[in-house]
Amino acid sequence: MLELRQLQAFYGPAQALFGVDLQMQAGQMVVLQGLNGAGKSTLLKSVMGLEVSTIGEVRLRSVQGQMVEVGQWSSHRRARAGLGYVAEDRRLFTSLSVRDNLRVAGGARCADRMAWVLDRFALLKPMIDRRAGLMSGGEQQMLAVARTLMTEPRLLLLDEPCEGISPVLVDALVQVLLDLRAQGLALLVAEQNRVLMRSADRLLVLVAGKVQGPQPSLPEPD
Ligand code: ATP
Repeated sequence: MLELRQLQAFYGPAQALFGVDLQMQAGQMVVLQGLNGAGKSTLLKSVMGLEVSTIGEVRLRSVQGQMVEVGQWSSHRRARAGLGYVAEDRRLFTSLSVRDNLRVAGGARCADRMAWVLDRFALLKPMIDRRAGLMSGGEQQMLAVARTLMTEPRLLLLDEPCEGISPVLVDALVQVLLDLRAQGLALLVAEQNRVLMRSADRLLVLVAGKVQGPQPSLPEPD
């Protein structure tokens, strides 16, 4: 689904990632760990093509099944190719309703997809006409994930989705994410939540922009 080879990331002249390798399949969840500043957000942005410049390989499995190098693609093109990203700060349209936030993200099959998304985030249904800016932080986080799911991603990149939200909403969000994984979605998540960590197929620990511990050897590219 995703393969990173010797990925390096830069903010202008400042280097933040130093040769990260990662391979993950559909239906797998990799949880990123590391201290503040270790490079977790940078890794997610590098995969999505946001804010950082990268060298090394970012390869994504296309719908047709081939691994395609996307490392120099725009974030919009990566989104169309199946990547979804939820930033730490959510980036909702706070003056728009829940419905319109979902609609703005939705593609051709918007109505069908919105029904599918709302079935997973039942708590959003009664507040469908509420302005996003009037929701609690946790509800906004649910909406941010729901909105990204409108684009039908095959790999979801989440930056601390459980941070600062109430335990009840954390449990609900974790359950949604695990259900989606069971249906084949791949998840790359920077997160300290214990349930997510315990359920991960792999923990990837970053220390100062490098993966800690032995890196699994990658097979030769196809
Ligand atoms: P946190 O848990 O605090 O979010 P993180 O593991 O996500 O930390 P990053 O935000 O990826 O860490 O930061 C990795 C390195 O890149 C840090 O040294 C940080 O100072 C630097 N960095 C992050 N964003 C920028 C930026 N916009 N410009 C320059 N340097 C940045």
